Amino acid sequence: MGKLYNLLVIGSSNTDMVVQVDHFPKPGETLLGGDFFMNPGGKGANQAVAAVRLGGKVAFIGKVGKDIFGKETLENLLREGINIDGISQDEVHPSGVAQITVDKNGENCIVVASGANMALGAGDMEKNSKLIHQAEIILLQLEIPMDTVSLVVKIGNEAGKKVILNPAPAQALDDEVYAGLFAITPNESETTLLSRIQVKDEPSAAKAASFFHEKGVKVVVITLGAKGAYLSAGEYKGIVPAPKVHAVDTTAAGDTFNGALAVGISKGISLREAVEFANRAAAYSVTKKGAQSSVPRLSEIE
Ligand code: ADP
Repeated sequence: MGKLYNLLVIGSSNTDMVVQVDHFPKPGETLLGGDFFMNPGGKGANQAVAAVRLGGKVAFIGKVGKDIFGKETLENLLREGINIDGISQDEVHPSGVAQITVDKNGENCIVVASGANMALGAGDMEKNSKLIHQAEIILLQLEIPMDTVSLVVKIGNEAGKKVILNPAPAQALDDEVYAGLFAITPNESETTLLSRIQVKDEPSAAKAASFFHEKGVKVVVITLGAKGAYLSAGEYKGIVPAPKVHAVDTTAAGDTFNGALAVGISKGISLREAVEFANRAAAYSVTKKGAQSSVPRLSEIE
């Protein structure tokens, strides 16, 4: 029996392999790079780690390969205190990896090989049906097959769970997916891609939020970088500002925000308070380098 939880993340896990370079290689060029770092990543895993560090009771459903990266991923999530009963090792596909090069200006080039993440399917949801039914809140992203996302939204919605979708990386969504969502949490560019509304200020954010509400989404949270987030729900409409910080690295700011928001909702605080909490956690994360390494613990933001 794994640990008790009320927040279930269903999503991706990757191993990020980062090499520092002076400049990006041209086609055919072999480059001797600088330092190499290997870090746990993937939006699903990042958000689960954020949620558990920020006081959530978290379980994860995902898929890794039967390889060293999969083993490390399982160990990492277990060490963080996440219930990993729902993670399986695929016999065929390798674990997800991301090859990242970072140049001297801090720009990056990323290639993701999703591997086992894209093999997470209906069979896995059936196998983990009990885990799904024991959750109160389900947090999803779009680094697993869209069919799986649709299925989880349907199952979750029918079972009365609050399903939160962070639509990243942005892809078009079916109407049935929107209709089954408790909350959607796009950033500015994802909002534009999904709604075709350019978000630049509060009125345009409100207009984009109406687009999602008309599709049936109850709570819309549009993250606005340093400005914080626009919250639109029955009880509140407006920008909730983020604390002013000295930004060093915005990697995983969105993941920290989503993990924290889900924790806030799982604790039953008001949506406005949950967004304030998420802003505080995400703002902290941009003051530190890296993805999971930049996610704060509750004590650091209280
Ligand atoms: P993403 O990282 O997914 O592109 P955003 O850039 O909108 O998403 O950032 C997500 C959240 O991280 C914001 O809503 C905010 O809470 C926090 N954040 C991001 N950048 C900053 C910043 N420069 N200062 C303070 N908070 C920030």
